[in-house]
Amino acid sequence: MGKKSAIIIGAGPAGLTAAYELLLHTDIKPVIYEQSEMLGGISQTVNYKGNRMDIGGHRFFSKSDRVMQWWFRILPPQESEGETPEEKVMLIRNRLSRIYYLRSFFDYPISLNATTVRNLGLWRMFKIGVSYIYIRLFPIRDEKSLEDFLINRFGKELYLTFFKDYTEKVWGVPCHRIKPEWGAQRIKGLSISTVLWNAVKKIFVKERDIAQKNTETSLIEKFLYPKYGPGQMWEEVARIIRQKGGEIYFNKKAVAFENVDKRLQSIVVEDVKTGDKQQISADYFFSSMPVKDLIAGMMNRLPAKVLEVANGLMYRDFITVGLLIKRLKVKHPRYSLIPDNWIYVQERDVKVGRLQIFNNWSPYLVKDPSKVWLGMEYFCAEGDNLWNMTNEEMKKFAVRELVKIGFIEEQDALDGLVVRMPKTYPAYFGSYDEFEVVKNYLNSIENLFPVGRNGMHRYNNQDHSMLTAMVAVENIKNGIVDKENIWDVNTEQSYHEEKS
Ligand SMILES: Cc1cc2nc3c(=O)[nH]c(=O)nc-3n(C[C@H](O)[C@H](O)[C@H](O)COP(=O)(O)OP(=O)(O)OC[C@H]3O[C@@H](n4cnc5c(N)ncnc54)[C@H](O)[C@@H]3O)c2cc1C
Repeated sequence: MGKKSAIIIGAGPAGLTAAYELLLHTDIKPVIYEQSEMLGGISQTVNYKGNRMDIGGHRFFSKSDRVMQWWFRILPPQESEGETPEEKVMLIRNRLSRIYYLRSFFDYPISLNATTVRNLGLWRMFKIGVSYIYIRLFPIRDEKSLEDFLINRFGKELYLTFFKDYTEKVWGVPCHRIKPEWGAQRIKGLSISTVLWNAVKKIFVKERDIAQKNTETSLIEKFLYPKYGPGQMWEEVARIIRQKGGEIYFNKKAVAFENVDKRLQSIVVEDVKTGDKQQISADYFFSSMPVKDLIAGMMNRLPAKVLEVANGLMYRDFITVGLLIKRLKVKHPRYSLIPDNWIYVQERDVKVGRLQIFNNWSPYLVKDPSKVWLGMEYFCAEGDNLWNMTNEEMKKFAVRELVKIGFIEEQDALDGLVVRMPKTYPAYFGSYDEFEVVKNYLNSIENLFPVGRNGMHRYNNQDHSMLTAMVAVENIKNGIVDKENIWDVNTEQSYHEEKS
């Protein structure tokens, strides 16, 4: 009998982890089909004339030791911070992100300090205070939406100032149409009382640090980051997979799935360049492609409800405009370049949602260190006005926005690149409420393992996307047929990529 094989759809973190784990723990041969030409999925790094762009800015951070150790085996952390001659290494980086609003910088998460008061002004602070007291006295009893949820915790004025516009930029729907559970999950620990408590704590911590002559550093958060961006991790994993006998094919899109008697028999893969189709069988199938597309491609008759719910799943899409800039107009009193990794742009008169400063993620992402390599991030919907702009229009639009918010002079924008990434955010609205119907159907197909972010329609970071693949391989190895433990990954939902 020949060796067993597994088809893996998608060469993102989940698909690559599944292949790696199969090679390490089983004798099943993994074959990956990836529709694009890139490794790493959303966690890829695009190399543009020697400047590397991260789609979103990916911190390597996990509460799971298993994931941390896994990453360290591929790219060990550098021994000490700063420049390093090592190539295959994860850098230890400082983390700073702030909010840009009213053409000024605010702490993120928002904190009560002199800068906040100065930037907002006394009249706004007064309104925030009064509306907060009001909502504590007269809370909205039945929270029907995210808007109600946020107003109850922050008061209407603070909600309007810091939450409404940004959330609506990210999701493209008004806050009153988003479920309150979304807030419960994402903004759990944050409320006015935590903001006040942090303000008090900060005074205390600062005094203690001064007493110990131990300034700032103890307050700075760190994170790990591959020297050449997240894609470096996944390119390295792919190299090991090939070395160990796994196969990876690019430009191959899984388009149809043949399911007989609760087993997936084969899939049809289309070459996106030639249109040629190929039907391929395997013993196991891992899918990190969007659930919606997977269900739509099933060749057998499906229960109508499964089709309806899968078809109603919604997503948010994402455009990053990489811009090479001669110099920024915004300054920091102590650093030659503002030190933020990313900035939340709350300004209402522009569409940009976040700004990445790639120099601060890793200086090795930037070819000429005297230049600033920015990522302007736009949340959008496939097919909307932003999505449909030509690359040239999009670049000009992004430059105009940067000029408008006072970040650059127009002539300082030197070069640019546009990357569109569909389905970056699986949405927890649309038909998501009824997702269980789809999940149960997928679970009924014994040899199919949905993994990862869109593969399970979950707001997973890399670590959780990887863990789903690890657990799926473990189940195969141990003969466990119940898939509930795969769905259990990331149900505690205690942390995610920030804010969006
Ligand atoms: C803005 C942003 C910031 C983020 N920040 C962080 C962070 O700081 N830290 C962190 O850990 N995570 C972060 N994430 C999350 C991280 O990007 C994802 O968790 C991770 O990439 C998901 O891996 P995946 O393999 O499940 O899916 P993906 O990365 O989406 O990969 C799926 C792959 O499948 C391919 N595919 C899809 N359909 C088909 C098909 N029909 N046939 C063949 N191939 C197909 C796709 O082309 C893609 O390559 C962030 C995400 C976003 C959007």
